[in-house]
Amino acid sequence: MALDEYRKKRDFTTSPEPKGQAPKRRAPLRKKKSTPLFFCVQKHLASHLHYDLRLEWNGVLMSWAIPKGPSLDPTVKRFAAHVEDHPREYGTFEGVIPEGYGAGIVMLWDEGTWTPEVEDVEAALAKGDLKFSLDGYKLKGSWVLVRTRGYDRRGESWLLIKHRDFWSGDLDITEFAPLSVKSEHDFPAILATETPATWRTNRPVVGGETGAMLPGIIEQAAQLRAAAERAPKRTRRSKK
Ligand code: MN
Repeated sequence: MALDEYRKKRDFTTSPEPKGQAPKRRAPLRKKKSTPLFFCVQKHLASHLHYDLRLEWNGVLMSWAIPKGPSLDPTVKRFAAHVEDHPREYGTFEGVIPEGYGAGIVMLWDEGTWTPEVEDVEAALAKGDLKFSLDGYKLKGSWVLVRTRGYDRRGESWLLIKHRDFWSGDLDITEFAPLSVKSEHDFPAILATETPATWRTNRPVVGGETGAMLPGIIEQAAQLRAAAERAPKRTRRSKK
Protein backbone atom coordinates (compact mmCIF):
# COMPACT_ATOMS: atom_id res chain seq x y z
CA MET A 1 0.00 0.00 0.00
CA ALA A 2 2.50 2.59 -1.13
CA LEU A 3 1.58 6.09 -2.19
CA ASP A 4 3.05 5.68 -5.68
CA GLU A 5 -0.28 5.93 -7.45
CA TYR A 6 -1.29 8.93 -5.34
CA ARG A 7 1.94 10.76 -6.24
CA LYS A 8 1.95 9.69 -9.88
CA LYS A 9 -1.39 11.44 -10.45
CA ARG A 10 -0.33 14.77 -8.96
CA ASP A 11 2.04 17.65 -9.63
CA PHE A 12 3.02 18.97 -6.22
CA THR A 13 4.49 22.13 -7.73
CA THR A 14 0.95 23.25 -8.54
CA SER A 15 -1.21 21.27 -6.11
CA PRO A 16 -1.57 22.31 -2.45
CA GLU A 17 -2.31 18.70 -1.47
CA PRO A 18 0.12 17.02 0.93
CA LYS A 19 2.82 14.95 -0.73
CA GLY A 20 2.75 12.47 2.09
CA GLN A 21 5.47 10.47 3.74
CA ALA A 22 5.45 6.77 3.10
CA PRO A 23 5.06 4.85 6.33
CA LYS A 24 8.59 4.06 7.45
CA ARG A 25 7.82 0.48 8.01
CA ARG A 26 4.76 -1.62 7.81
CA ALA A 27 2.82 -0.83 10.95
CA PRO A 28 2.34 -3.79 13.25
CA LEU A 29 -1.05 -5.45 13.11
CA ARG A 30 -3.28 -3.61 15.47
CA LYS A 31 -4.43 -5.27 18.59
CA LYS A 32 -7.57 -4.41 20.42
CA LYS A 33 -7.53 -1.26 22.54
CA SER A 34 -4.69 0.33 20.58
CA THR A 35 -4.59 3.91 19.30
CA PRO A 36 -7.87 4.83 17.62
CA LEU A 37 -7.81 4.76 13.84
CA PHE A 38 -8.61 8.00 12.00
CA PHE A 39 -11.34 8.31 9.40
CA CYS A 40 -12.65 11.21 7.37
CA VAL A 41 -15.03 12.03 4.56
CA GLN A 42 -13.98 14.78 2.17
CA LYS A 43 -16.67 16.35 0.01
CA HIS A 44 -14.95 16.94 -3.30
CA LEU A 45 -16.30 19.15 -6.03
CA ALA A 46 -14.18 17.91 -8.93
CA SER A 47 -15.46 16.99 -12.39
CA HIS A 48 -18.31 15.41 -10.44
CA LEU A 49 -19.35 16.07 -6.88
CA HIS A 50 -18.51 13.08 -4.68
CA TYR A 51 -17.59 12.15 -1.13
CA ASP A 52 -14.24 10.48 -0.39
CA LEU A 53 -14.39 8.07 2.54
CA ARG A 54 -10.92 7.45 3.98
CA LEU A 55 -10.03 4.91 6.63
CA GLU A 56 -6.59 4.90 8.26
CA TRP A 57 -4.84 1.58 7.89
CA ASN A 58 -1.14 0.68 8.02
CA GLY A 59 -0.12 4.32 8.05
CA VAL A 60 -2.09 5.46 5.00
CA LEU A 61 -5.73 6.24 4.23
CA MET A 62 -7.63 3.58 2.32
CA SER A 63 -10.03 5.51 0.10
CA TRP A 64 -13.40 5.08 -1.58
CA ALA A 65 -15.06 7.72 -3.81
CA ILE A 66 -18.82 7.79 -3.24
CA PRO A 67 -20.74 9.85 -5.81
CA LYS A 68 -23.93 10.22 -3.77
CA GLY A 69 -22.26 10.25 -0.37
CA PRO A 70 -23.12 8.11 2.63
CA SER A 71 -26.73 7.29 3.48
CA LEU A 72 -28.03 6.56 6.99
CA ASP A 73 -30.83 4.46 5.50
CA PRO A 74 -29.96 0.74 5.81
CA THR A 75 -32.00 -0.07 2.69
CA VAL A 76 -29.82 2.23 0.56
CA LYS A 77 -26.62 0.89 -1.00
CA ARG A 78 -24.23 3.60 -2.09
CA PHE A 79 -21.78 2.91 -4.90
CA ALA A 80 -18.19 3.42 -3.71
CA ALA A 81 -15.21 3.23 -6.10
CA HIS A 82 -12.11 1.95 -4.34
CA VAL A 83 -9.41 4.47 -5.25
CA GLU A 84 -5.73 4.84 -4.42
CA ASP A 85 -4.47 5.15 -0.84
CA HIS A 86 -3.86 8.69 0.34
CA PRO A 87 -1.25 9.99 2.82
CA ARG A 88 -2.34 10.11 6.43
CA GLU A 89 -1.96 13.90 6.52
CA TYR A 90 -4.35 14.25 3.59
CA GLY A 91 -7.12 13.44 6.07
CA THR A 92 -7.39 16.97 7.41
CA PHE A 93 -6.82 18.74 4.08
CA GLU A 94 -9.37 21.29 2.97
CA GLY A 95 -8.86 23.77 0.17
CA VAL A 96 -8.68 24.36 -3.53
CA ILE A 97 -6.81 22.19 -6.00
CA PRO A 98 -6.29 24.70 -8.81
CA GLU A 99 -5.41 22.29 -11.61
CA GLY A 100 -4.44 18.76 -12.46
CA TYR A 101 -5.78 15.56 -10.96
CA GLY A 102 -8.82 16.12 -8.75
CA ALA A 103 -8.92 19.85 -9.57
CA GLY A 104 -11.71 21.49 -7.66
CA ILE A 105 -12.66 22.22 -4.07
CA VAL A 106 -12.13 19.85 -1.14
CA MET A 107 -14.17 20.20 2.06
CA LEU A 108 -13.50 18.22 5.23
CA TRP A 109 -17.10 17.04 5.61
CA ASP A 110 -16.62 14.65 8.54
CA GLU A 111 -13.83 13.22 10.66
CA GLY A 112 -13.38 11.03 13.67
CA THR A 113 -12.28 7.50 14.45
CA TRP A 114 -13.20 4.12 13.04
CA THR A 115 -13.11 0.65 14.56
CA PRO A 116 -13.02 -2.58 12.56
CA GLU A 117 -15.83 -4.95 13.46
CA VAL A 118 -13.84 -7.89 12.16
CA GLU A 119 -10.93 -9.80 13.66
CA ASP A 120 -8.75 -9.49 10.59
CA VAL A 121 -9.03 -6.36 8.43
CA GLU A 122 -6.68 -7.66 5.72
CA ALA A 123 -8.76 -10.80 5.35
CA ALA A 124 -11.98 -8.76 5.29
CA LEU A 125 -10.56 -6.53 2.54
CA ALA A 126 -9.43 -9.54 0.55
CA LYS A 127 -12.85 -11.08 0.94
CA GLY A 128 -14.54 -7.80 0.03
CA ASP A 129 -16.66 -7.51 3.16
CA LEU A 130 -15.41 -5.02 5.74
CA LYS A 131 -17.63 -4.32 8.72
CA PHE A 132 -16.72 -1.35 10.87
CA SER A 133 -18.08 1.38 13.07
CA LEU A 134 -17.59 5.12 12.76
CA ASP A 135 -17.45 7.76 15.44
CA GLY A 136 -17.46 11.06 13.59
CA TYR A 137 -19.36 14.31 14.00
CA LYS A 138 -21.94 13.25 11.41
CA LEU A 139 -21.47 9.55 10.78
CA LYS A 140 -21.75 7.11 13.63
CA GLY A 141 -22.55 3.49 14.30
CA SER A 142 -22.09 0.37 12.26
CA TRP A 143 -21.43 0.19 8.50
CA VAL A 144 -20.24 -2.26 5.89
CA LEU A 145 -18.27 -1.94 2.67
CA VAL A 146 -19.01 -4.81 0.29
CA ARG A 147 -17.13 -5.40 -2.95
CA THR A 148 -19.23 -6.18 -6.02
CA ARG A 149 -18.01 -7.89 -9.17
CA GLY A 150 -17.83 -4.65 -11.13
CA TYR A 151 -15.11 -2.19 -11.98
CA ASP A 152 -15.48 1.32 -13.24
CA ARG A 153 -12.81 3.63 -14.60
CA ARG A 154 -11.91 4.74 -11.08
CA GLY A 155 -11.38 1.34 -9.56
CA GLU A 156 -13.05 -1.63 -7.98
CA SER A 157 -16.70 -1.26 -7.29
CA TRP A 158 -17.88 -1.52 -3.68
CA LEU A 159 -21.10 -0.61 -1.87
CA LEU A 160 -21.31 1.37 1.37
CA ILE A 161 -24.28 0.34 3.49
CA LYS A 162 -25.42 1.50 6.93
CA HIS A 163 -26.33 -1.20 9.38
CA ARG A 164 -29.56 -0.81 11.29
CA ASP A 165 -28.77 0.66 14.70
CA PHE A 166 -29.35 3.72 16.88
CA TRP A 167 -27.64 5.91 14.25
CA SER A 168 -29.54 4.70 11.18
CA GLY A 169 -32.65 6.40 9.86
CA ASP A 170 -34.15 8.32 6.98
CA LEU A 171 -32.44 11.65 7.71
CA ASP A 172 -30.61 12.77 4.55
CA ILE A 173 -27.29 13.50 6.23
CA THR A 174 -25.64 15.16 3.20
CA GLU A 175 -28.58 17.60 2.96
CA PHE A 176 -28.97 18.02 6.72
CA ALA A 177 -25.28 18.64 7.46
CA PRO A 178 -23.67 20.01 4.28
CA LEU A 179 -20.85 22.09 5.80
CA SER A 180 -17.22 21.55 6.75
CA VAL A 181 -16.44 20.17 10.21
CA LYS A 182 -13.09 21.97 10.03
CA SER A 183 -14.16 25.50 9.11
CA GLU A 184 -17.98 25.33 8.99
CA HIS A 185 -17.52 26.67 5.46
CA ASP A 186 -19.44 25.76 2.34
CA PHE A 187 -17.74 25.52 -1.09
CA PRO A 188 -17.96 29.27 -1.88
CA ALA A 189 -16.45 30.15 1.51
CA ILE A 190 -13.60 27.68 1.02
CA LEU A 191 -12.97 29.10 -2.44
CA ALA A 192 -13.07 32.64 -1.01
CA THR A 193 -10.10 31.86 1.23
CA GLU A 194 -8.12 31.24 -1.96
CA THR A 195 -7.86 33.40 -5.04
CA PRO A 196 -11.14 33.37 -6.94
CA ALA A 197 -9.64 35.57 -9.67
CA THR A 198 -7.65 32.66 -11.03
CA TRP A 199 -10.83 30.61 -11.13
CA ARG A 200 -12.47 32.94 -13.60
CA THR A 201 -9.78 32.21 -16.15
CA ASN A 202 -8.72 28.74 -15.09
CA ARG A 203 -11.82 26.64 -14.58
CA PRO A 204 -11.06 22.99 -14.04
CA VAL A 205 -14.51 21.96 -15.17
CA VAL A 206 -16.57 23.44 -17.95
CA GLY A 207 -19.43 21.09 -18.66
CA GLY A 208 -21.72 18.88 -16.67
CA GLU A 209 -23.14 19.23 -13.20
CA THR A 210 -20.02 20.77 -11.67
CA GLY A 211 -19.51 23.10 -14.62
CA ALA A 212 -23.02 24.39 -14.03
CA MET A 213 -22.41 24.89 -10.30
CA LEU A 214 -19.05 26.64 -10.59
CA PRO A 215 -20.06 30.08 -11.90
CA GLY A 216 -22.44 30.52 -8.94
CA ILE A 217 -19.82 29.33 -6.46
CA ILE A 218 -17.19 31.63 -7.95
CA GLU A 219 -19.60 34.56 -7.83
CA GLN A 220 -20.46 33.89 -4.16
CA ALA A 221 -16.79 33.50 -3.31
CA ALA A 222 -15.96 36.81 -4.98
CA GLN A 223 -18.72 38.53 -3.00
CA LEU A 224 -17.43 37.03 0.27
CA ARG A 225 -13.94 38.27 -0.56
CA ALA A 226 -15.17 41.73 -1.43
CA ALA A 227 -17.20 41.94 1.78
CA ALA A 228 -14.21 40.79 3.85
CA GLU A 229 -12.02 43.44 2.23
CA ARG A 230 -14.56 46.18 2.92
CA ALA A 231 -15.01 45.14 6.55
CA PRO A 232 -12.89 46.85 9.22
CA LYS A 233 -10.03 44.70 10.37
CA ARG A 234 -11.37 44.00 13.83
CA THR A 235 -14.52 42.35 12.49
CA ARG A 236 -12.66 40.14 10.05
CA ARG A 237 -13.01 36.53 10.80
CA SER A 238 -9.61 35.40 11.96
CA LYS A 239 -8.41 31.90 11.45
CA LYS A 240 -7.72 30.01 14.60
MN1 MN B 1 -11.99 12.82 -4.72
